[in-house]
Amino acid sequence: MRLAECDGKALLRRHGIAVPRSVLLQAGQGLPDEAAHWPGFLLKAQLLEGGRGKRGLVRRFDRAGDFRDARRLIVPGLDDADTPLLLEEAVAIEREIFAAVRVDGSAQRLELLLAPEGGENIEASAKLARIPIEPGAPATPEKIFAGLGKLFPADLAARLARYAARLPEITRQEDLELLEINPLVLTRDGNLIACDAKIVRDDAADFRHDSEEFVVSRTLAARAMTKLEREAQALGFQLVETDGDVVLVTSGAGLGMMMMDLIGDRGMRAASFMDNLRGAPDETMTERLKIARALAARPHIKAIIFQTTLASRSLAERVEALIGWLAAEPLPKPLFVGIAAGHAATRKMTAEQAVEKLQALGISAFTDPVALVKAAAKAVRQ
Ligand code: GDP
Ligand code: MN
Repeated sequence: MRLAECDGKALLRRHGIAVPRSVLLQAGQGLPDEAAHWPGFLLKAQLLEGGRGKRGLVRRFDRAGDFRDARRLIVPGLDDADTPLLLEEAVAIEREIFAAVRVDGSAQRLELLLAPEGGENIEASAKLARIPIEPGAPATPEKIFAGLGKLFPADLAARLARYAARLPEITRQEDLELLEINPLVLTRDGNLIACDAKIVRDDAADFRHDSEEFVVSRTLAARAMTKLEREAQALGFQLVETDGDVVLVTSGAGLGMMMMDLIGDRGMRAASFMDNLRGAPDETMTERLKIARALAARPHIKAIIFQTTLASRSLAERVEALIGWLAAEPLPKPLFVGIAAGHAATRKMTAEQAVEKLQALGISAFTDPVALVKAAAKAVRQ
């Protein structure tokens, strides 16, 4: 789950990280009394996307009387006029720094990133310290200081090392995939203040945390969902609608991404991406197919690709369920079924037998996903 800036900053504040004073404003709300005497202001649209500065959705102003004008400049740039705005006390910037902790998936550990400049595309910049955080070993200020090399003046490097040493622990405790502070501001009076927060929590760890928290982020995410995406969530899985011509039905993110690539290789584009809501896949085949049917009814959709991979659930039962489901109502577009099954799933029926059975009923079925996508591409071309 991606957190809106205000929720991300609330999380940071909870862990003792300094953030600017702020008030969250609902659409149309005026300047609150408590802010009237701040020395300077920032008005920032709360979206789940970054790059707001560039899009004119972050406005700085110095006098309380300019609040209405700042709001008038932001609102036309919003897709949704109800987007909440965060009013913040502006801080006096001496220097903007980039600080982040991310999960390094290939090395299976956390990585701390620090750069002497804020802004965009920092990860491509040569001036970036990448400091691996070994599992089980604390990120000590000494180790971070050593990893900073000559990127910062020595006194700032020492302070930054102490500051950054807290971030990996917060990342772990909060089950974050990403904790990015950009800019981390060094103020003219020498404080380090997190002026922006981009935080992504691992959805699989949601159950460990308070589900009532981060109301703004949850509301924004729900508002951005399509009707079918919402329906899928209620049915127990995650759907992301994409711009494409082939409905893809899979379970598990890895399989979904592989199939999307295969589909792309054949000049088609997937119109859907499906993932499990929780760690392990629930039995949601008929629910997924129900949503696939609705998607496939759209005129630009040319085919449905259903790839199923079974480890221990019975393939025979899966095939029976599929046949029953198909017999109940005709599909609006041609269906291509791929079957992969592990040993435990094939006690009553092997993948080859399943394919034979489906083919006998006139359903295009394959054990090889490449052959499956190839056949679908051929049908789409015709
Ligand atoms: P983003 O563009 O969505 O990443 O939004 P940011 O919150 O990072 O804001 C964009 C830019 O506004 C930052 O890079 C800063 O340069 C500037 N900014 C953010 N907070 C402050 C602040 O408190 N004071 C001042 N002067 N500038 C700020
Ligand atoms: Mn930013």
